[in-house]
Amino acid sequence: MNSFAYIKPRTKEEALSVLHELGARAKIAAGCTNVLPDIKAKKLADCVLVDISSLAELKGIKVTGETITLGSLVTISELLESEAVASDAAVLWQAAKVFADPLTRNRATIGGNLANASPAGDGIVPLMALGAIVTVENVNGKREIPLEDLFTGPGQNALKPDELITAVSFARATNTKSNFIKFGLRKSMAISLVSIAVVMETNGDKLDRIRIALGALAPTPVRAKKTEELLAGKQIGPEVLEQASELIKTEVEPITDVRASREYRLHLTGVLLKRAIETALA
Ligand SMILES: Cc1cc2nc3c(=O)[nH]c(=O)nc-3n(C[C@H](O)[C@H](O)[C@H](O)COP(=O)(O)OP(=O)(O)OC[C@H]3O[C@@H](n4cnc5c(N)ncnc54)[C@H](O)[C@@H]3O)c2cc1C
Repeated sequence: MNSFAYIKPRTKEEALSVLHELGARAKIAAGCTNVLPDIKAKKLADCVLVDISSLAELKGIKVTGETITLGSLVTISELLESEAVASDAAVLWQAAKVFADPLTRNRATIGGNLANASPAGDGIVPLMALGAIVTVENVNGKREIPLEDLFTGPGQNALKPDELITAVSFARATNTKSNFIKFGLRKSMAISLVSIAVVMETNGDKLDRIRIALGALAPTPVRAKKTEELLAGKQIGPEVLEQASELIKTEVEPITDVRASREYRLHLTGVLLKRAIETALA
């Protein structure tokens, strides 16, 4: 039989010292929408669950000058309810809208989504397009990791066993145009076949700068940097969009699985890039 111990620290400092003492035996539990299914599927056993869900220091959405900071315990429902997210991080709000179902959104945290490191994580892709930075802490202090450097493989991240994600922050995306598309096999509760987030700074018809992030197309979510370079400074029209939708296929490594073939996913990548840019501009 699997055995679990359970600890519920009352402060962030207490949580960090528990994680330090337990090292690899600790399993952080936030909203548990990944942890509980993993226990049920016997992927997780014989560990100490460190329940961080009541740590006040990890809660809340703060707007400071030009920066928005999400505590790692901010839930997907809280993102949807936030006026700051709706107006200054619309791409994240759009992703929250198509995330799971209301019950799961009430439990699922943004920190849990990042740490879970799914190649299709619906919180990760828009935050990557926003250029987010992740703050992680352990007993020795704090470090900041660009979100695109957090992932090392499917379900794998660059955190040390005693590190806790405490926050994720990004510059307010005011005066930008953005769009998030989650393409699944059904309308609700879908797992993405492909997802894409674009955040663009425009000047009239000209695209000054664009950040493109893609989900479910490689072992980790990825930025399409060559395509971003191709599009920067261009007048957006059918010809340049066609070039970009071909180039972006060279920046991903989709697999064939039960839900779709590699070829179909590649085709979708080009189609969804065009659709995301056109929708954002409209
Ligand atoms: C029915 C259902 C539908 C779902 N639909 C979607 C969906 O549409 N899109 C999507 O992206 N995901 C979906 N998920 C997956 C899940 O809900 C998300 O990944 C969620 O954001 C995880 O957050 P959590 O707080 O529940 O994490 P938990 O389950 O508590 O933890 C997840 C992982 O992160 C680690 N962790 C948690 N918090 C921290 C932290 N602060 N620092 C370091 N490590 C931490 C845990 O140890 C664990 O490994 C779904 C899950 C279910 C059950």
